[in-house]
Amino acid sequence: MFRRVVVLNGAAVWKSALIPTHWQDKTNMSRQLHARRLEKVEENVWLEFTKLAAEYKVVNLGQGFPDFSPPCFLLESLCNAIKGGPSMHQYTRAFGHPRLVKILAKFFGRILAREIDPMQEILVSVGAYGALFCAFQALVDEGDEVIIVEPFFDCYESMALMAGGKPVYVSLKPRKVTGPTLSSADWVLCPEELASKFNSRTKAIVINNPNNPLGKVFQREELQMIADLCIKHDVICFSDEVYEWLTYDGAKHIKTASLPGMWERTISVGSAGKSFSATGWKVGWAIGPGHLLKHLQNVHQNSLYHCPTLNQEAVAVAFERESELFGTDESYFKQLPTQLQVKRLKLAESLRSVGLQPFLPEGGYFMITDISSLKVDLNDPSSKNEPYDYRFVKWLIKEKRLGTIPVSAFYSHESRADFQNYIRFCFVKDDSTLKAAEDILRQWKDQK
Ligand code: PMP
Ligand code: GLN
Repeated sequence: MFRRVVVLNGAAVWKSALIPTHWQDKTNMSRQLHARRLEKVEENVWLEFTKLAAEYKVVNLGQGFPDFSPPCFLLESLCNAIKGGPSMHQYTRAFGHPRLVKILAKFFGRILAREIDPMQEILVSVGAYGALFCAFQALVDEGDEVIIVEPFFDCYESMALMAGGKPVYVSLKPRKVTGPTLSSADWVLCPEELASKFNSRTKAIVINNPNNPLGKVFQREELQMIADLCIKHDVICFSDEVYEWLTYDGAKHIKTASLPGMWERTISVGSAGKSFSATGWKVGWAIGPGHLLKHLQNVHQNSLYHCPTLNQEAVAVAFERESELFGTDESYFKQLPTQLQVKRLKLAESLRSVGLQPFLPEGGYFMITDISSLKVDLNDPSSKNEPYDYRFVKWLIKEKRLGTIPVSAFYSHESRADFQNYIRFCFVKDDSTLKAAEDILRQWKDQK
């Protein structure tokens, strides 16, 4: 895919660079067109596998989005916003629509048991992606080390690299299991290994809780271990908590920022797409102390400026409703995990019925399973240099019309070889989709 070519840069100095062949545009311009910072972020698992899933019209348990409707109250709030007068269709405040930042401050202030300043301590952006991008651009400098806990949502690595940072990886590893069922809680960090990654060049650590793709929900002691190191080495924590409401079997999500000494060094990231099952809405936020947030706001105002007013207004109304209903059975943040709990068990059962052993997730949208026991002839010559899970997922798409995601995509290149025997399933799907997936798996088993 890559070819070493010689390029002429602006200052007429000959340099050699690794340039992906599909970037070598056929133009009559002799200079290199792309910015060098893009050279390490060329691959994208979502582009590759969503395209393939669409091409083969699969039963799609791949990309993480609900295929059922968002709640009616959310749709109503958008309709009302559309009819809400001229201001709903114009620019709003750059750092977040006032109605939305006010309710986010109130809502998360209650959870964190502290007063949050809606104007100085919140940024609303284009999805959690936008909030994360602003955080990396604002706080990671050329040469800064950024510790990334593997497996990680892939954009952390790209965003660290695009900011000029150096990703330093530390893996959650499955420990020896004692119980009858596997759980995402079995994936743990080694305290000594984690501590060894921190040094004077470390600027930030990125954690994702609940984790995508494992579904791990970090225990208080695990978060405390990370917090102690952050405080000791004066490191910022980017805590991606987009699945914070989605925990199962009594697992409890703890916000990193709630730990003693962590508010002043934590950027908590959230997503309305994940909160209200409307991933296409692209409303996300970063919450943190003013001395950090003002830099994210600066990046945001000079790049995206703001996220669409209508969506922000509708999300604000939905959060106002959640605030009223907080902790009750009518709260969507209670109803959604209850609904997903059933889907999660249904998918786990389907996987077990064909002899797979899923790691039951404590939270989030996803479930992973080891595929090494499945004996499949994967001799497709077009993909022979790829990790096993990539080849397996492609085979599953093409031969069985079932879409999933290879878990090694959530690892650095250094670690990929050690984690190429797992695939990820999304269970946030309509029951008919889960049933169709089960039928595919059962038929496959019967053929064997
Ligand atoms: N973080 C994680 C862990 C995710 O899985 C996703 C994907 N939804 C995002 C961030 C991005 O969220 P959003 O769609 O709100 O940009
Ligand atoms: N967060 C979702 C997932 O992990 C979707 C990511 C994407 O499509 N960029 O599947």
